[in-house]
Amino acid sequence: MLDNTKSDEPAALRNHRLSVSEHDPGYTPAYADSGWDKAGLKEALLANQADLCAYCSAPIRFDRMKVEHREPQSHPKTAHLQLAWPNLLGVCPGNEGRPYHLQHCDTSKGARRITLDPVAHEIDRIVGCTGGGRVTVSQPEWQREIDEVLRLNIESLIRLRKTALRAVLQALGKKRSGRIPAATYVREIARLLEKRRRARAYRPFVVFELRRRANR
Ligand SMILES: [Zn+2]
Repeated sequence: MLDNTKSDEPAALRNHRLSVSEHDPGYTPAYADSGWDKAGLKEALLANQADLCAYCSAPIRFDRMKVEHREPQSHPKTAHLQLAWPNLLGVCPGNEGRPYHLQHCDTSKGARRITLDPVAHEIDRIVGCTGGGRVTVSQPEWQREIDEVLRLNIESLIRLRKTALRAVLQALGKKRSGRIPAATYVREIARLLEKRRRARAYRPFVVFELRRRANR
């Protein structure tokens, strides 16, 4: 899960959120409205999240992503947040249209509510990983949300995280199980993430694991 500090609200979203209707004084802007700059919103989400899914941190791109409302639009208690910038996340397709056991992220979550919030919570501090690639979190309720709602620990995602780690280790020229000096880690990882878009995949897990190895 990405530690997602939000940039300023993009103009595309603000313009729509504050829009009024000449013909309908009772008009309230909604996410589902047509004719507003949703493309601008998606571009802003991609830029803010460095092209990674807010939940599983898989690479996403403009034509293969979804706009997730963490607090669901369809829930009466949270419908008013449908155009709130901190509530909007760029996420991966999550195997939409495939059997449920393969689904994850927004696709498996659907209209369910979760309390774990990559924008409000310090994800870097509370979410970790086991060396085996499982996403772990301190509170049982959050762990349940990660396992059963977002389904971030399904076999296919664990495999992808381990593959991403191996690729970064190879790019760094280190042996898979070798110890990485802390100074090298800081310098090289920063450079690699900057330079190679593909190396950013599953970044939170990769960074967590490399940091763990550097410190042991
Ligand atoms: Zn995802």
